[in-house]
Amino acid sequence: MLEVNEDLAHEECPRYFTLEDYEGGVARWCPGCGDLAVLTAVQRICRDEQLAPEKVVAVSGIGCSSRFPHYMNTYGFHGLHGRALPVACGVKARRPDLTVWVATGDGDCCSIGAGHWVHAVRYNMDMTVLLLDNAIYGLTKNQTSPTTPIGVATNTHPGGALLPPLNPTSSTLGFTNVSFVAQTVDWNPAHLYATLQAAYQHRGFSFVRILQRCPTYTAGVFDEYQRDPSHLVVLEHDDGIPVDPALDRIFKNRLVHDPSDMGEARRLAEHTDPLPIGLVFRDPARPLYEQTTYQGLDMTREQRNDALNQELDRFLV
Ligand code: SF4
Repeated sequence: MLEVNEDLAHEECPRYFTLEDYEGGVARWCPGCGDLAVLTAVQRICRDEQLAPEKVVAVSGIGCSSRFPHYMNTYGFHGLHGRALPVACGVKARRPDLTVWVATGDGDCCSIGAGHWVHAVRYNMDMTVLLLDNAIYGLTKNQTSPTTPIGVATNTHPGGALLPPLNPTSSTLGFTNVSFVAQTVDWNPAHLYATLQAAYQHRGFSFVRILQRCPTYTAGVFDEYQRDPSHLVVLEHDDGIPVDPALDRIFKNRLVHDPSDMGEARRLAEHTDPLPIGLVFRDPARPLYEQTTYQGLDMTREQRNDALNQELDRFLV
């Protein structure tokens, strides 16, 4: 009869996760959509960091990019329009052990979800927020969004968008308790990966604005940046995001920027030509709201009931 060594019988099998472990349904974005590159980068980071899929949650609101959770073979929550961030904060408040990725668009985050954006930055809970900025409402077929450039014709403004676009990067830098802000582009996989990996590794609310191509409705709005990289400037610093030396041939414009310098970060964020890409600001010392919400997570069911009853008893008359 086979004897089972008890120590070995209870040992967990080590698992190595491959890209396939994170791949959900077949993405139904348009051919050439920048969302595909972002999805691939996130799946690669999950694989390279060996995150167990059952310990990852993808959260989104509504919009093209908000289909993200469907394409991740992890837990996911496809929420209401503009409500990705409160859902993500709720997840993190009670499940600090989970890695949270938030996919939101310029309409979802910067318009209907703007109030949540302000407060989620202030809460500074540990999550990575991907603002996929394609400068349009794509899912509802071509309406002006808060980031649509002046003059771009849309269904709601056939004569061209009338107002200056909102700048998500400089706006985020203006919110209280901001701890990580970066900017990148979907069409350079190496820079995109490095930026998202740095955002994932930051403990706190990491906000990454990604210029995201939408060939269906805003084809051309990022053409200048894409065709001529001299319209971009790569931010460099020992405390910044390491840039793959292979990119030296593409990105000749470089700027040494200390990401702890808020004044300079705000000044840089206003620039659109050349547009800075890389780490704009980071302060790892900012307080995290989840440090208070974690309290009590280790209590038993009985202890929770007792604590609840004690609280309720305070209102006895
Ligand atoms: Fe992507 Fe634009 Fe198509 Fe939406 S409409 S899936 S953003 S290309």
